[in-house]
Amino acid sequence: MHCRNGRPQSIEILLDPHGGIRGRCSQCRQPAPGYDRLPERRWAFVPLWGIRTDFRYAPRRVECAEHGVVVEHIPWSDGKRPVTCAMMGFLARWARRLSWRETARVFQTSWEAVYRSVEWFVQWGLEQRELRDIKSIGVDEIHWGRGLRANNFLTVIYQIDAQCRRLLWVGRRRSQATLRRGLKALGPEVVNGLSFVCSDMWKPYLQVLAAQAGHALHVLDRFHITSHLNQAVDQVRRAESTRLRAQGKQAAERLKHLRWTLLRRGSRVRGRARQKLNTLLASKLATARAWELKETFSHFWHYKSVIWAGAFLDYWCFRALRSRLEPMKKMARMLRAHEPLILNWFRAKGEISSGAVEGLNNKIRVVTRRSYGFRTYNAMEIALYHNLGRLPEPESTHRFC
Ligand SMILES: [Zn+2]
Repeated sequence: MHCRNGRPQSIEILLDPHGGIRGRCSQCRQPAPGYDRLPERRWAFVPLWGIRTDFRYAPRRVECAEHGVVVEHIPWSDGKRPVTCAMMGFLARWARRLSWRETARVFQTSWEAVYRSVEWFVQWGLEQRELRDIKSIGVDEIHWGRGLRANNFLTVIYQIDAQCRRLLWVGRRRSQATLRRGLKALGPEVVNGLSFVCSDMWKPYLQVLAAQAGHALHVLDRFHITSHLNQAVDQVRRAESTRLRAQGKQAAERLKHLRWTLLRRGSRVRGRARQKLNTLLASKLATARAWELKETFSHFWHYKSVIWAGAFLDYWCFRALRSRLEPMKKMARMLRAHEPLILNWFRAKGEISSGAVEGLNNKIRVVTRRSYGFRTYNAMEIALYHNLGRLPEPESTHRFC
């Protein structure tokens, strides 16, 4: 142990090979006769009693019959990394509970070391994971960072089966090429075995899915359609608010602080927000009509029969197209254009949970937001797999958390 001013600074553990046990070849793990010894190396181990702890060891080289003179297999080490596997696993597990920066601070190491540890952990998991029995996937786009450039979007592929919901793949951008890359990474066996594919109305995805997963039932799911509707209502409100403010203050008051209320389901609005909403609905404002259209649409999801659901959709689009509200008209045109895929929701009834994509989506947002500390795209991608991939983990003889 090294101390400074009477306080412990670091612990060093000196390791020596057991004289009676031969080193093993790092390629084939077979015992082999010794050759020579290399200079001493250092590996960071898990801090003991909160004190930085290092292993010191001079690795042997062995002469393997098959692989020639090679470095011996070192059980606590992986390649040239200056950190023990135990420490990498330790940091990686903590990095799911704390931000990476905090993990580095608490365990007296660098952000870079945490990053490398999680990367190692995730790589191991990705190599070991099994992609069997995947029946349903959801494809989605996620926005991250600032701005709306192509690079600010991610394409994610989830498994959304009831027994397993996880992130399968993530890639930069949201083009056809991105999704093709993702499906290729999953492999033809996974893609051919799919029964259901769930996605947004984003055209590049629709095209790729039709071409590559045409055998699966393609569903445009409830979560995405609902969020498009909410956006349409919000557009109407913002436009009207600007218009009213230009005319004079009083009418504009009625639209103030209503943004979140309007996005909520009508049955969930209570108390003072409800009073405000009722006042709005009694008015002849465009926002009230848009909200009412949105609210009516929620009946759509309760149909049991595809035919009746189709009839309702026609009726709703007819009304929306006559509403003189441009965002709602646009929504109606979009729904009409994708009618067969939207009605697939009823054909897949019971097989796809409306909450699956939404739930994973929310979790992704938590990670990308914590990502304030992620300096690069790669770091964030690794963090997403780490938190949402349900990856298998390397065995560790030391479980610290
Ligand atoms: Zn060998």
